[in-house]
Amino acid sequence: MFEWFGRVSFCSHTKVTDFACHLRAGRLVASRCVACGHLAYPPRADCPACLSEDFTYHEISGRGTVHTYTRIDAAPAGFETLSPYVIGVVDLAETGRLLAWFGPSIPESEIAVGMPVQVVPRLFEEIEEIRVYYSLERPEAPGAGAV
Ligand SMILES: [Zn+2]
Repeated sequence: MFEWFGRVSFCSHTKVTDFACHLRAGRLVASRCVACGHLAYPPRADCPACLSEDFTYHEISGRGTVHTYTRIDAAPAGFETLSPYVIGVVDLAETGRLLAWFGPSIPESEIAVGMPVQVVPRLFEEIEEIRVYYSLERPEAPGAGAV
């Protein structure tokens, strides 16, 4: 299941393998520690607050704000045909940060640090080896958060 992230640098099975299943189903999830309630994104199999190994998945809203962003003109191997594209780091409303592509609902000219965005799990159709990713969309964009 983790092969949905790509075939390089990922273990095929970990304690948080189901994270990929949730993404594939369009759900963005964090881990919630059963012992102390700590919410972590990306999901952590071992609680960073109390070290408990007992956790459940908790769906989060995907709402966040742009922390920073950059335009990629010289894309890494495998992404050459997709450049130029813009990626951003997002501070999630509930907890944590993630890196994602800006989707078609946000033109590059409108991207700004601090702008609200909606993180939407997607299935990659352009690159066979990578099947799940996120895109950043306007919070009010049709389909945002409802994949
Ligand atoms: Zn804990």
